[in-house]
Amino acid sequence: MEYMCYACGKEITAEDIAKRIRCPYCGGKVIFKKRPETSKKVKAR
Ligand SMILES: [Zn+2]
Repeated sequence: MEYMCYACGKEITAEDIAKRIRCPYCGGKVIFKKRPETSKKVKAR
């Protein structure tokens, strides 16, 4: 599972946040899971 920093948008591995949940690049604390299928189309009504 990969993660992304909400602040800088960099990819973060689970290893990076294993010790401390924060972005190793900018120190941001808002991390969200990155979905493998980001290009998946979402059908709007
Ligand atoms: Zn960051």
